[in-house]
Amino acid sequence: MSDRGFDGFKTMSNQTQAEQDFQMADLGPALISVRQLNVHYGTVPALDCPELHVPQGAIVTVIGANGAGKSTLLNAMMGNLPTNGHARGEVVYREQVISDWSVEQRVGQGLCLVPESRELFASMTVEENLLLGGFRLYRQRVSGWRDTLADIFELFPRLHERRRQLAGTLSGGERQMLALGRALMAQPQVLMLDEPSLGLAPLIVSEIFQTIVALRARGVSILLVEQNARAALQIADYGYVLETGEVVLQGIAHELANDPRVIESYLGLGHQEPTEDA
Ligand code: ATP
Repeated sequence: MSDRGFDGFKTMSNQTQAEQDFQMADLGPALISVRQLNVHYGTVPALDCPELHVPQGAIVTVIGANGAGKSTLLNAMMGNLPTNGHARGEVVYREQVISDWSVEQRVGQGLCLVPESRELFASMTVEENLLLGGFRLYRQRVSGWRDTLADIFELFPRLHERRRQLAGTLSGGERQMLALGRALMAQPQVLMLDEPSLGLAPLIVSEIFQTIVALRARGVSILLVEQNARAALQIADYGYVLETGEVVLQGIAHELANDPRVIESYLGLGHQEPTEDA
């Protein structure tokens, strides 16, 4: 990533320390950011994030334990909080404040969230699920959705093999591939992934994460929320550590992976994620 010049924040006045630290990472201008983002469920605070940035064409990861506020962050950025959730602060995309945009507007402008639950249509085939992901572009007569489908089948040959199979009969790894593939049918600029490794065997996690790396190479900007800190920090460019709703550490991913506090809390030998399915 060091070949990318940083010019985004240089033009802004009154840089905060976090912006300066981020600039040091030499990742390029932020495509999407949050500023002073504060989320409550009813009166209970869930997230207090002064700032977080995702540069163009980078993988930024947010690691943290159960309940740290990772999904809350993604849902707030997507404008998709549950009804008892209230957000204050700003989401900035392409230098425009989009905090009051609807989910549909955000999707229309290239934001896409793959939720932890994956939310596939179990009684529809793999191909039908994928086509639904491209429906907005199809309806807008955006050309190229057929090419995108072919591209996704190339990226995930297993989805091609199983294209006539019902989504409900797929393995955990294949379901995650399908969730990713469906998101890609919308040709997103920013892909937000909520725990793509959840419940998957290490070999499958590695396959999924290699695909995420391939997406970065195609210029997609990725915000990867993970409990599997080891896998996430291996592929990310930059990382944030979230604890009980607050960013307690941030930095270049490989430096974070060597930070004793991260090693002790997230990468220690005793820290193993359970798997349910390959
Ligand atoms: P997990 O991996 O378990 O989903 P997370 O880091 O994604 O964890 P969140 O789901 O964002 O964490 O939850 C952050 C905090 O907000 C937790 O204390 C959780 O119990 C609480 N919370 C999440 N959703 C709601 C809700 N709809 N109503 C009330 N509290 C909620």
